[in-house]
Amino acid sequence: MDVVVVGSCNVDLISYIPKLPQKGETIHGTKFKMGFGGKGANQCVSSAKLGAKAAMVAKVGKDTYGKGFVEEFQRFKVNTDYIVSTDGASTGVAPCLVDQNGSSAIIIVSGANLLLTPQEIEQAEEVIKSSKVMICQLEVTQEATLAALRIAKKHGVKTIFNPAPKLDSLPEEIYSLCDVFCPNETEVSDTAVTTIEEAGAAAIPYLDKGCFTVIVTLGDKGCVYVTKDDRKVCHVACDKVNAIDTTGAGDSFVGSLAYFMSCHASLPLEEMIRRSCQVATVSVQREGTQTSYPYRNELPPELF
Ligand code: ATP
Repeated sequence: MDVVVVGSCNVDLISYIPKLPQKGETIHGTKFKMGFGGKGANQCVSSAKLGAKAAMVAKVGKDTYGKGFVEEFQRFKVNTDYIVSTDGASTGVAPCLVDQNGSSAIIIVSGANLLLTPQEIEQAEEVIKSSKVMICQLEVTQEATLAALRIAKKHGVKTIFNPAPKLDSLPEEIYSLCDVFCPNETEVSDTAVTTIEEAGAAAIPYLDKGCFTVIVTLGDKGCVYVTKDDRKVCHVACDKVNAIDTTGAGDSFVGSLAYFMSCHASLPLEEMIRRSCQVATVSVQREGTQTSYPYRNELPPELF
């Protein structure tokens, strides 16, 4: 395997409505869309669409959505041998209401994602060990994430940890298990950073906690990165484009970075980051999440 992702699967259930309902009110929507999502699944599909041989380690419910997820991954040739299904909870879902002004209200019911156990991660040791890069996030339990990072480290597999969604605190051990720690501008510190200088200053302390590289994604400002080698704050800009839907841009970036780290390992880090920004910037010019991620043949050949 090139890339293995240990993480979440959530089905996005999006209803478009004229206005958000009041308590007790029933209103009629104008459109409904369903999409396969969850940070783990998004990052895995992002890598696979670029051509990585990818595998997903996850838990879904024994229900229609769980079955649909496995079929969807297989459509992208993702290995699904380590997707466990349970009757202990439903597949994770994210019902979302969007009104005509674009304001939204979202509920995430994590369901089966939170039943993925450290023991089940240990049963996936073989696929983690055989991969070049492992990605994980925080939409499954911290214990499961930690178990995955420990196994990857034990076998010398490069790790990318995307600390999303933001939690108040994380076990200190997690940082020394990350080759790449990749938060966005709100996840990198208690108070959201807005400038390149603030992002750099917020990234440095993670080097002291044990991370080897810290990359902070900054939306249309691209990324800032620092490494243990020289602790120099570097900025990678992205193209100015007309963004129409930035949902899942961070996942597009993380999945692309894993692709470049595994399939173009000899590139300098800055070049991998620049190319990953370029892929994520394509995704923000299209609607949807996984559907907005480009296939390799839709991108300039010089990226590969
Ligand atoms: P999400 O939570 O929606 O997945 P995020 O906050 O984790 O997103 P961002 O920092 O917004 O991630 O974006 C990740 C990358 O996507 C950026 O580094 C950049 O390359 C690209 N990107 C995001 N927004 C824009 C934009 N408006 N214009 C160009 N590129 C963008």
